[in-house]
Amino acid sequence: MHIDKFTDAILNCRFCFMCRHLSGIGNVTFTEADTPRVRASMIYGVTQGTMQLDNEDFIATLYRNDLSGACRRNCVKHFDEIGLTLAARADIVEAGHAPAVVKAIAKELAATAKWTAKGSGDILYFEDLYTKEAATVATAFAKIMKKANVSYITVTGGCIGKGLKTLGYLKEAQDAAKKFAAFVKKTGVKTVVVSNPAAYDALVNDYPAMGVKFPAKVMHTSEYILSLKLKFKKAGDIYYLESDFLRNYNELSFPHDLLKVMGAVNKPFGTNDEESYSCGEGAVVLPKIDAKLVEKLAAYIAARADNPKKDHIVTASPYTKLMLTKYTKLNVVTLEELAASLL
Ligand code: SF4
Repeated sequence: MHIDKFTDAILNCRFCFMCRHLSGIGNVTFTEADTPRVRASMIYGVTQGTMQLDNEDFIATLYRNDLSGACRRNCVKHFDEIGLTLAARADIVEAGHAPAVVKAIAKELAATAKWTAKGSGDILYFEDLYTKEAATVATAFAKIMKKANVSYITVTGGCIGKGLKTLGYLKEAQDAAKKFAAFVKKTGVKTVVVSNPAAYDALVNDYPAMGVKFPAKVMHTSEYILSLKLKFKKAGDIYYLESDFLRNYNELSFPHDLLKVMGAVNKPFGTNDEESYSCGEGAVVLPKIDAKLVEKLAAYIAARADNPKKDHIVTASPYTKLMLTKYTKLNVVTLEELAASLL
């Protein structure tokens, strides 16, 4: 079973409550089950035969996980509680116990795995489904590229494997990844730029782990915009909400480097610097699994703003912008939008 590769996390997390305050879903549902400790305890039960893989409560708990990576990142030993949940999901799927809603999402995602390209140049900008939905992000990127006088190819389309992998559909994720890698190879570009941190993590980490060779260098837009060495007006006071994938999964400094170049004064948001305020970015498709949970996460974030009507909030994630804009009155822009507004 996939969970057998995570014995360390199972044995250590099941007796530990140290990171419970960083469990995003636990913080909005107030349920002890939604912490790494209880998830690991239940998975330990699977290894001992006292918990069945088809137990509906067990399955629902695993698919509720917001997968922010905050617990793993701040754990003194960095036990991989995220890898453990993903492994358990894959075991559930392979045993044929995926809930109907998860099966339907996976089917829908697999069907979106096709892309179209327009434009020309050596740079490829990938506009995934969330970036497309937050239409102003790609527009801001276009403004930046025009200012830098760089022509580029825009590729628009659906799942490149991340959503499927997150749901536990490993074979389908690998199929989508192979198709996307082949599509990009045909364009001949050497650099792919992505706004969506989930797409970044997929291309940089998931593809090698799945044995899929990606034919180009991958850059998050924050890194790429920095490389253009543009001049910006001063951004002033902002609150930057960390991306799960860029910080907790990859420890990238580029968003902060870009904010510095833009003269932003990043004020501390919320009660600590460890929690995730991403609205469930790490879970990739949480709005499709349970939109009410995303709404609760958004309300939790809004309640921590110093001045919800006036605070200038910045995120690296089109997903986080979409969810906070949908469920709260917070003023949220992405890094691309902030950069474009300061040219
Ligand atoms: S991730 Fe670390 S801090 Fe959290 S429950 Fe596991 S061992 Fe404890």
